Amino acid sequence: MSAVDAAAVAAWVREFTRLVHEQRDELTRLDAAIGDADHGTNLDRGTAAAVAALGARPADDAAAVLTTVAMTLIKTVGGASGPLYGTFFLRAAGALDGDDGRAVAAAVRAGYDGVVARGRAERGDKTMLDALGPACDALDGAVAAGRSLEEALGAAAEAAAAGRDATAPLVARKGRASYLGERSAGHVDPGAASAALLVQAAATALAGRG
Ligand SMILES: [Mg+2]
Repeated sequence: MSAVDAAAVAAWVREFTRLVHEQRDELTRLDAAIGDADHGTNLDRGTAAAVAALGARPADDAAAVLTTVAMTLIKTVGGASGPLYGTFFLRAAGALDGDDGRAVAAAVRAGYDGVVARGRAERGDKTMLDALGPACDALDGAVAAGRSLEEALGAAAEAAAAGRDATAPLVARKGRASYLGERSAGHVDPGAASAALLVQAAATALAGRG
């Protein structure tokens, strides 16, 4: 079985970019309801720049691919999303040690922990963590149970989507949406929506790997 190598990680980033582009207007619509209506356009621009950077500087090391993506997102994505997604990829790069399912789960967990620290946020705050956290748990659980990376990421994508949907009734406690107080309830969080795309992209692009 082929490993989670640099090419596989780059394919994950390209699939995330494709999904963000496809969902750009929906992400912006969600951000218009409880934020400043730029999440879709910002992330679309940043992920496209990341793919361009990978094309300009191809890396043969999976961690180097993640680092390039991190630095590009930090430079090109405005608002809180750039630093948070950048932190996710940077921490994942630092933790990646190996090319199997266990290594992927540990890297994603490290990325999640980085976002928790950087955002000083926790689950239930109505943020991207509400999609990423359940995804980490599902991924860790499936890998520990000996399931294939494809199955584990499939479970993680389902958990991320459920976590995204579960943000709708929540009152935001972090970010711009928190300024709305109770009025933030009734809308899916745009960061949770894009984070679910990140996990969905991994499930698609890394199927058959690890
Ligand atoms: Mg915004």
